[in-house]
Amino acid sequence: MSSHTCLDCDSIGDGSCPVCHGIGMLSGDSASGAYGESAGRVSCASCNGSGECQKCDGSGQVEVGGEG
Ligand SMILES: [Zn+2]
Ligand SMILES: [Zn+2]
Repeated sequence: MSSHTCLDCDSIGDGSCPVCHGIGMLSGDSASGAYGESAGRVSCASCNGSGECQKCDGSGQVEVGGEG
């Protein structure tokens, strides 16, 4: 088996979720803050709030070489 650097991370191979940049949370741009402050942040749906790249499980490496 071999592995290669994950290209799906926020920065290549860093293991961070590219959607939330490894934070695990997303800030709501639609709410400008004047109204509904408590709803300003939501859990990242891509990584379920873990902040890890789902392609490589946060390892920064993905295994290759298997078909199927
Ligand atoms: Zn990755
Ligand atoms: Zn995320």
